[in-house]
Amino acid sequence: MKNREIPVIRKILISWYMNHHRRLPWRETKNPYRIWVSEVMLQQTQVKTVIRYYPKFCRHFPDLKALAKADQQDVLKSWEGLGYYARARNLHQAAKLVIKRYKGKIPNDREAFLKLPGVGDYISAAVLSIAFDRPYPAVDGNVKRVLSRFNQIDAPVNRAVSYGIFKKFSDRLIDTDHPGTFNQAMMELGALICKPKNPTCTSCPIETYCRAQKNGKVAAYPKRIPTRSIPEYRVAIGVVYKNSRVLITKRKPEGLLGGLWEFPGGKIQKNETPESACIREMKEEVSLSIEIDSYLTRVKHAYTHFRILIDVFLCRYVSGAVKLNQATDYRWVKIKEINNYPFPKANLKFIPLLNRVEHIKNKKG
Ligand code: SF4
Repeated sequence: MKNREIPVIRKILISWYMNHHRRLPWRETKNPYRIWVSEVMLQQTQVKTVIRYYPKFCRHFPDLKALAKADQQDVLKSWEGLGYYARARNLHQAAKLVIKRYKGKIPNDREAFLKLPGVGDYISAAVLSIAFDRPYPAVDGNVKRVLSRFNQIDAPVNRAVSYGIFKKFSDRLIDTDHPGTFNQAMMELGALICKPKNPTCTSCPIETYCRAQKNGKVAAYPKRIPTRSIPEYRVAIGVVYKNSRVLITKRKPEGLLGGLWEFPGGKIQKNETPESACIREMKEEVSLSIEIDSYLTRVKHAYTHFRILIDVFLCRYVSGAVKLNQATDYRWVKIKEINNYPFPKANLKFIPLLNRVEHIKNKKG
């Protein structure tokens, strides 16, 4: 990227964005809170998913005050199925801090904004540039891919240490007069044109300046270091019935799926059947003796670093009083009440079956 080309490239990108960007709800506002919510949701999640959650979340928590005042369970329920729940917990925490420290005004100062939970380099740059026109380049996966091809950058995009290299290029390229529009233009170019597979270079507004395209090397970029294959764990889960209610437990407030509710269960050990694992887990995790009535289903779910294969059993309470090992709370709930609690996606995959089982039971009387 030659210095003299930079002003031209900026102009081209901004004009391309103005004419071609997708109309998305979070682009129709300058409200910093709503822009913040959208950027947090868009981290790790695709636009087509976020578009289903964002309007509902904004209706439920229309402003920072509403979010700060909300119960964490309510926030997690609105986030249910979107994954990476630490994002929701941090956003909720951050909203409370903004109310307390800044009288409800989101700070447009980078240092201050970066001190809030869940706010890192990317979120701060994206929110401050889009909402307040502050001159910080937002470097996400899309932007790294565009830069990598455009400048033939050999640094692997999936290595944390490469971030500084991409950031340097972005610092040079950003249009400081229109930083928010420029950042969105780069992200949109990555999403619509310079896509991970089969980029449509012939429609690319900056094709003439792209090094990889000039050198016939587009397919060789971005560079990545090979990732290790992710492990798969087998898990047994029990839906324990007692007096027409089922047992659900609440996870610890922090860590993976923190604060969500789930059906108790755990990993199947070597040489153990799913049934005996289920019985053992009920003893260890909730101190209950149970009997297995029937097999409900098998569900698969993938997290970032591992996959799980879950066998779900319908169980009957036999004896014992609930004593929690890892969980922090529990409830005996009717199936129709399950919807009031936030559950992880892996559980949401079989909950509809429980409704069906209930329906059949009720029919039989
Ligand atoms: S010309 Fe092709 S590779 Fe280069 S930035 Fe545009 S879409 Fe990406």
